[in-house]
Amino acid sequence: MTEPPNGPERASPKSATRDANSAASDEYIGRLSSIEEIAAAVRSCTRCGLAETRINAVPGEGSDSPSILFIGEGPGANEDEQGRPFVGRAGKLLDELLGAVPLLRSDVFITNVVKCRPPGNRDPLPKEVRACWPYLEAQISLLKPHVIATLGRHAMNRFLTNTRISDQHGRATVWRDIVIFPLYHPAAALRSTTLRQTLENDIRGLPAAVLQSLEMSATRSQTPSEIDVSIANDPIPPASTEPSVDDEANKNRLF
Ligand code: URA
Ligand code: SF4
Repeated sequence: MTEPPNGPERASPKSATRDANSAASDEYIGRLSSIEEIAAAVRSCTRCGLAETRINAVPGEGSDSPSILFIGEGPGANEDEQGRPFVGRAGKLLDELLGAVPLLRSDVFITNVVKCRPPGNRDPLPKEVRACWPYLEAQISLLKPHVIATLGRHAMNRFLTNTRISDQHGRATVWRDIVIFPLYHPAAALRSTTLRQTLENDIRGLPAAVLQSLEMSATRSQTPSEIDVSIANDPIPPASTEPSVDDEANKNRLF
C-alpha cells in the first residue's frame, strides 16, 4: 500500500516549510514602513482562512500620529461591506461618545485584532489571531500611540491576560511602554443602559490616561536608568480567556 500523501513523514518537512514561510512573511510585515503600506498588505493578505470569506479587509483608519489607538476584536458585517472599522451602530455610538470628550475619529486611529470578518461574527480562532497579529504589531510600532484603548474583553485579553473587563475598564495599565486603557465594547453598551453610562464615563477618562502616558515618557527620558517601568507580559496571542484573575494587571496599574 502506498503511503498517504499527508502521512506523518511528509507532514514534518511541510510544516517546517510553512513555518519558514510564515517567519519570512512576519519579517516582511515588520519591515513595512508606513500605515498605507500595511493597509495595502492587509487588503491583499491570505495568511489565514478569513481571506476566503471576507468582502473587504479592514486595515483600520485615522491619524498617522494618534494619541489614542482604539482596538476592537474584528470587523462585523457593515465593516466587511465598507472596508472601514466601526461603521455600524456600535461605530455610531463610539463616534458619539468620542464627541463628548471631545475627540474626532481623525484624531485617533481605529483598528481591530483581526482585519477580516469572522463569518457570522464568531470569535476569531487562535490561529487567525496569530496570523493577523504582526499587522497590529506593525501598526503599533509605526503609530506610537500614547494610549491603546481596547474595546471589549476579547481585545483587552490580547494585551492583559487573565483579567476581567469588569475590573479593568476605565483603568490604565502599562504594556510595554504604552498605557492600555480597557473599555467596554460599544456593541455591549447598545444592549445595556448601565454599560452605556459606564462606557461614557470611562471614555471621559481618556485625556487623563494620555496625560499619564506623557508624564511617564517624560520621566523615562529624564532618568532612564532609574525607571523600572514594569511591563506586563508581552502578549503571546491568543491570550488565555480563562476567567481567573491574577495580579499581573494590578501590578502595573497607574491609577
Ligand atoms: N466591532 C468590532 O470589534 N470591530 C469593528 O470594526 C466593528 C464592530
Ligand atoms: Fe490576513 Fe488578518 Fe485577514 Fe487573516 S484576518 S487574511 S491574517 S488580514
